[in-house]
Amino acid sequence: LRRRDALDAIQCYTERMKVDAFARLSMENALRVAIDREQFTLLYQPKVDADAGRVVGCEALIRWEHPDEGVIGPDAFIPLAEEIGLIHQLGQWVLRRACEDLGRWRASGNALVPVAVNLSASQFGRQDLVDQVRAVLDETGTDPALIELEVTESALMRDTRSTAELLVQMHDMGLSLAVDDFGTGYSSLAYLKRFAVNTLKIDRSFVQDCDAGHDDPAIVRAIIGMARSLGIGLVAEGVETVAQARVLQAEGCPVMQGYLFARPMAADQFGKVLAVGLPEARMLARRPR
Ligand code: C2E
Ligand code: MG
Ligand code: MG
Ligand code: MG
Repeated sequence: LRRRDALDAIQCYTERMKVDAFARLSMENALRVAIDREQFTLLYQPKVDADAGRVVGCEALIRWEHPDEGVIGPDAFIPLAEEIGLIHQLGQWVLRRACEDLGRWRASGNALVPVAVNLSASQFGRQDLVDQVRAVLDETGTDPALIELEVTESALMRDTRSTAELLVQMHDMGLSLAVDDFGTGYSSLAYLKRFAVNTLKIDRSFVQDCDAGHDDPAIVRAIIGMARSLGIGLVAEGVETVAQARVLQAEGCPVMQGYLFARPMAADQFGKVLAVGLPEARMLARRPR
């Protein structure tokens, strides 16, 4: 009887593996089709200046508009795209769309702000990355100063020589570099100089721990102090509450991003934000000090 149970368990397990493999394969196929048909959209989340609440930048965030499943977030398909080598095409699409949207915002006559685009570690695996980026900027007539690349700390720490070389080339082209999810990777800070980092983005987990109900803001304070003494820009990501915003403001964090001010939004909507500002961010201007 026990042997039978074991056999059942094994069979059950292999059935499930088959289902998983099948689900994965069908997702792979769906993703290939989606890339062919451009079933994606880019949303933009504002970054606001902590003193006046002015919009000083935005981050482009991809969504998959699946015909049956609805909107799918990047965490559910970017890892697969990396694994099966589709991230290069996807990354190209993202950069091109961001540049096109910049063009539309420019055409409406409003002052532009830089757009940050996320880059996966595996995109550095292709030597033609820089040529591809340059081609998109040229074709769309985009000023490189308006594009920022967000690369996670762990991607930088993979530190193949080629990553450093590619980043230097893009830096020389005039693009700037932000370290995403800062503080969650490794403790070596040598790479900040090595990669000519322009900006650090304090990971959401530290931001969410920094209001009065939680921990003390020691980590956030340390990162702010470090960025300042290195002369590097700083963004706090994932700001959700007024209490968090006030602590960050008091500690001297210059730029914030988070649901408190705005969720990621469609390009047209962000165009309006460029025109009229962000009412939700004006609370920052009333500084209680
Ligand atoms: P990330 O680059 O760290 O982006 C920030 C994520 O935090 C976004 O999730 C954003 O919607 C979310 N967020 C912003 N404010 C708040 C807040 O106040 N509270 C909370 N809880 N979350 C907030 P999203 O859009 O789901 O993106 C997740 C990750 O997927 C990104 O993390 C990035 O690593 C990756 N990703 C997004 N778009 C792209 C892309 O075009 N290419 C690549 N390679 N990766 C992308
Ligand atoms: Mg990012
Ligand atoms: Mg991040
Ligand atoms: Mg992240």
